[in-house]
Amino acid sequence: MNRLRDKIRDIPDFPKPGIIFKDITPLVKDPATLRLAVHQLLQPFLGRNITVVAGMEARGFIFGSLVAWELGLPFVPLRKPGKLPYDVQSVSYDLEYGSATLEAHIDAFDANDHVLLIDDLLATGGTAKASCELVEQLGAKVEACAFVVELDFLEGREKLGNYEVHSLLHY
Ligand code: IMP
Repeated sequence: MNRLRDKIRDIPDFPKPGIIFKDITPLVKDPATLRLAVHQLLQPFLGRNITVVAGMEARGFIFGSLVAWELGLPFVPLRKPGKLPYDVQSVSYDLEYGSATLEAHIDAFDANDHVLLIDDLLATGGTAKASCELVEQLGAKVEACAFVVELDFLEGREKLGNYEVHSLLHY
């Protein structure tokens, strides 16, 4: 895990004073470490009944699509508002630095889909909770959520209640 931890950079006072931003760009820039992260992310789900992987814009697209590719599963992007061209379902939520909305196409999931949600980082859990709601509003089931980094002190895991949560690194 230190190989992953060594590739995550702290950026003080980004995007606001007092916030220490965990920058994953050194990790995705290093192919061996990126591969390690993707394999560790998907490890708990081998042999599980997952039918689709969804990723939250924007860094969830990087890890989510690689996990989907490795598992041979479809990938669904959960996007910021106004980006998706077809009819959408939306959820709004509070996050660490304000409020936000996520959208998915109304035909993104099938009723019998079991969805693995992937993002780079779990902070307050607002984004992940909203993503779970979006998946459920579209008729599918959330199988689990997986993150590269979890900021334990923000207690996002508590906000996610009974959803299954996996993280590779804890701060
Ligand atoms: P939450 O909704 O408060 O859990 O925030 C998580 C979302 O914000 C994720 O989509 C992350 O990509 C992003 N985020 C929040 N803090 C950081 C950080 O320190 N580094 C990278 N992404 C972050």
